[in-house]
Amino acid sequence: MRFRTRLMLVLLTVVVVSQLATGLAFLRATQQDALAKGNQRLEVGARVLDQLLDRRGDQLRDNVAILADDFGFKSAVSSQDRETLQSVLVNHGTRADADIVLLSDPDLFETAQQQGSAFSVVIADGQPYELVMMPVQAPNVIGWVGMGFLIDEAVVQEINALTGLEISVVNYTSQQTPTYLASSHSRTEAQPLSQFNNATEAEAYSETSQMTPDDGYLTYASELYNDSNNQTFALIQLSRNELLAAYDDLQWQLLVIVALILLFTIAIAAWSARSISRPLVALADVARRIGQGERVNDVPAESSQSETGLLAGTLRSMQDDIAEREAILRHQSRHDLLTDLPNRISALEDINTRIQDSQPFTLLRLAIKDFRNINDTFGYELGDHVLVTLANRMQALKSPIQTAYRLASDEFLLLINQPHTMPHWRISELAALSTPIDLDNSSINLTLAAGEVSYPAHGEKAQLLLRRADIALDIARHHPDAHQRYVEGQDERHLRQLTLIHDLRDAVNNNQLQMDYQPKVATLNGEVYQFEALMRWRHPSLGFVPPDEFIGLAERSGNIRKLSQWMLEHVASQLHQWQQQGFRISVAINLSASDVTDPQLPRQLAELLARYHLAADQLSLEVTESAVMRDIDAAARTLDEISRLGVSVAIDDYGTGYSSLAQIKRLPVNELKIDKSFVLKLDSQEDDLTIVRSTIEMGHSLGLSIVAEGVENAASAALLNDLGCDSLQGYWIARPMSRDDVIPWLTNVETFIFTH
Ligand code: C2E
Ligand code: CA
Ligand code: CA
Repeated sequence: MRFRTRLMLVLLTVVVVSQLATGLAFLRATQQDALAKGNQRLEVGARVLDQLLDRRGDQLRDNVAILADDFGFKSAVSSQDRETLQSVLVNHGTRADADIVLLSDPDLFETAQQQGSAFSVVIADGQPYELVMMPVQAPNVIGWVGMGFLIDEAVVQEINALTGLEISVVNYTSQQTPTYLASSHSRTEAQPLSQFNNATEAEAYSETSQMTPDDGYLTYASELYNDSNNQTFALIQLSRNELLAAYDDLQWQLLVIVALILLFTIAIAAWSARSISRPLVALADVARRIGQGERVNDVPAESSQSETGLLAGTLRSMQDDIAEREAILRHQSRHDLLTDLPNRISALEDINTRIQDSQPFTLLRLAIKDFRNINDTFGYELGDHVLVTLANRMQALKSPIQTAYRLASDEFLLLINQPHTMPHWRISELAALSTPIDLDNSSINLTLAAGEVSYPAHGEKAQLLLRRADIALDIARHHPDAHQRYVEGQDERHLRQLTLIHDLRDAVNNNQLQMDYQPKVATLNGEVYQFEALMRWRHPSLGFVPPDEFIGLAERSGNIRKLSQWMLEHVASQLHQWQQQGFRISVAINLSASDVTDPQLPRQLAELLARYHLAADQLSLEVTESAVMRDIDAAARTLDEISRLGVSVAIDDYGTGYSSLAQIKRLPVNELKIDKSFVLKLDSQEDDLTIVRSTIEMGHSLGLSIVAEGVENAASAALLNDLGCDSLQGYWIARPMSRDDVIPWLTNVETFIFTH
């Protein structure tokens, strides 16, 4: 229920209840008052009746006394002169205006005898009379004389006129129904006397007035006469309607007053509820708007003393607090906690804004090379120090650099107001950024890698630009030149690489790898003396993936050991199978840099040879110059051990690296494999011929056997033969073949002849 409604209901309830209580109490009091007044009037009426009867009794007594004293009357009584008596009585009766003159009633007579006179209401011929009896003395009592008035309509009308009360004189006998002797009630009115069936019922009303049950009269019964047969009552009555007429009026007036007060109360309650709740409703509205994030400047201001004023003040300060906290949160959500540089979210927002304005710009994504190393060596605290220092340097950079951001742990981004960066500018800025950082006792050297993209050249979406900058940065990390600008297509290549790196892990387990074999032929006798094992990966969705592509990825992602393990096991078991078929074949396997420096490798090779019952010369290794040169000492140790097993070692791709024969001499190498780039066009390229010739000569002088790979035609083969090359490998002899093709090919192949 709404606050306003509730307030109104409370006010109304209070008013209604108090009005009803006072109204009812008032009505009750007035009703009782009216009844008490009626009672009083009835009692007054009864007294008036008594007095009236008394006054008339006194009159009668006087008249009777005069009559009883009358000499003529006395002598008529004593002479028993009936005629005289009658005329005297009639005369006196008429003068006294009496309705009856004499009555011989034993009871009354008795009373008169005892008291010397009597005055009473008597019933004669069913009519009520007020009667006075007196002795006639001369001087002895010679008789009794009496006079009476009929208590009739005139009497009751007189009292009615005097008091305004209704008077009825009713006689009750034990046998008959009550007799209605006189009444001031108009004849047409319903008989109010039917209420009392007998004297006993009427007597109940003689003590005090009461309401008669049905006809609604307040009644007082005054007993007029009582003998053994008759009992006469004067019933003095007040109509209830008349009695309570004023009260009823009052009731209606009160009702009207109550109704008016109620209406007034409703109006006041509605008004005050409204005026109390209006500021609250307004404040609630303000609170709702603040909750929805709106900044409300017109918080209703009331005097700060009032509760609503207090609430308004609280809302205002709450709004300020929220705004302050929001600002902090907003800052925190868009800035890096450590360096306070804007973060990736800010970068995306700013880039998007720039794109919307279609202003060309350049992003330089920077990373500290080997940051993990710094953390590992100096600890995280100093690592953080390095990051903060670098961040401060970036923030100090001047135009055209607009903003510096921190994207991830050691990755930063510079937003530059130029379509691309100039080499000299770039070199000096990067040099400034990577100035060694001084620590307590030492200094840390920083090497930064940078990947660059430009809008709109490299994309029209912030995310895309950031990703391409990341790709360029990734290339820069592994490149001698620490700055790389994104080149079209790198993105797709990068995606393919990500897929390959991810899927490479399952390639071994899912049987997607196999080995192909390519023969080497000795020029001396034209016979096949060895096969080179070459790995093949059939990717379930990308199809054939060349080893040049996935071997490099496996090396970078740390999967190469797993591939090499599988390859070694696979080749050894293949050799064993062929051996069992009666073919003693020798296979050269290719090793990567990490294989060559693996101290476990010699032991593993020995174990394989033993397990598959192979001779040491059935296995030989091919390692590239660059793989050996990466850590020549470790490579020398491993290769020494391997050659002690009797396994020969060849230097692959010879001529492409920067190694010298002097360095190679330190290694236990038996064979040099001239790279196919010098062999493929040997028959047409004079330069290649020169290089190949001198390589063969130098190799021979060091006691090395020379192999040429990439022999694609007979002319090249003949040339190599002429130059004294020891063995040949290439498509002209055979392409790499599947393991199942090896034996059929071997059994069908003829001896190769190398002539022009
Ligand atoms: P690589 O060791 O120099 O292998 C010789 C590559 O030259 C092979 O390519 C072979 O198919 C190709 N080739 C042979 N004769 C000719 C020819 O007459 N003309 C031309 N154009 N090419 C010829 P492939 O099989 O694609 O292997 C590429 C490289 O992948 C290999 O170069 C080797 O470095 C690496 N690789 C292959 N298998 C393995 C392996 O099992 N382990 C490791 N670590 N590397 C492997
Ligand atoms: Ca090879
Ligand atoms: Ca090669």
